[in-house]
Amino acid sequence: MAGPRICVVGSVNMDLVVATPVLPVPGQTVLGGPFATHPGGKGANQAVAAARAGGQVSFVGRVGADAFGDTLRAGLEAEGIDIAHLRVAPEEPTGVALIAVDPSGQNTIIVAPGANAAVTVDDVDAAAERITGADVLLLQLEVPLEVVAHAAALAAEAGVRVVLNTAPAQPLPDDLLACCEYLILNETEAEILTGVLPTDWESAEVAAARLREYGARQVIVTLGARGAVLAGPDGVVPQPAFPVASRDAVGAGDAFVGTFSVGVGSGLAAPEALRRAAAAGALATLTSGAQPSLPTAAAVDAFLAECGEN
Ligand code: ADP
Repeated sequence: MAGPRICVVGSVNMDLVVATPVLPVPGQTVLGGPFATHPGGKGANQAVAAARAGGQVSFVGRVGADAFGDTLRAGLEAEGIDIAHLRVAPEEPTGVALIAVDPSGQNTIIVAPGANAAVTVDDVDAAAERITGADVLLLQLEVPLEVVAHAAALAAEAGVRVVLNTAPAQPLPDDLLACCEYLILNETEAEILTGVLPTDWESAEVAAARLREYGARQVIVTLGARGAVLAGPDGVVPQPAFPVASRDAVGAGDAFVGTFSVGVGSGLAAPEALRRAAAAGALATLTSGAQPSLPTAAAVDAFLAECGEN
């Protein structure tokens, strides 16, 4: 059976990662260790997560006319993602994240959005068919807010479910909130948007209730190893985390969001989509890096069976 159609309007970055014995202070030059490049950007990561979860994914965004752009396009295509609307921004470099990591795992990150900042409302209009023909429109906040809001409005008007991962957190206009069926956010994002730092299910419920007062219909707050909470018109659903020997949390949020979107897009009830999303998040912590750690639907099925949950 063909999976649900998921359209992602979002960011694509190349992550440039260097290990360093110490993080440099201003003015200091440090001789680092191994250097690696990894495909990233929340939009691209969640598109890959959704494709591996079984979605038929199309991507709307921009890369530069450079080697990173070519590599990232090819990577998305290799995942089976439709990149007809991943355009080239001729004047801008591909987005990059410059990441330094010390031996304790502490990092510094500078993101240069480049082509991601050049995604326009016209790009969204050009992809209108992909958006209005989708089962789910999946959005984050790494492309301009007016683009996100425009895409959400187009989808909502056509009756397409909108899932918004509010990362990185920034104030959200009411009309954007009104277009979203689901908001998904982690603890830090919840604190920035509501002033409440969720540390457990109860406080997550308080933060979610505040966002619902602002106009969000259904809110999911993710709490890392403490699981997640969904709050909506049908009440509150706490989802415990699956116990795993977690290695690296990078990618957990993206796996969660992509898998959840495919779940609701394929007609699963929200609590069941939430359970699969939590399983995907847990699996993502077993492998280092963002995209390498994103699980397939088969891996999630096998994991749930192993946990005695299927
Ligand atoms: P983000 O990466 O956006 O901060 P979280 O860390 O909250 O997102 O992770 C998203 C989801 O992944 C969590 O709600 C949880 O279900 C799952 N998850 C994350 N970390 C762990 C962990 N250490 N053990 C089990 N599940 C986890």
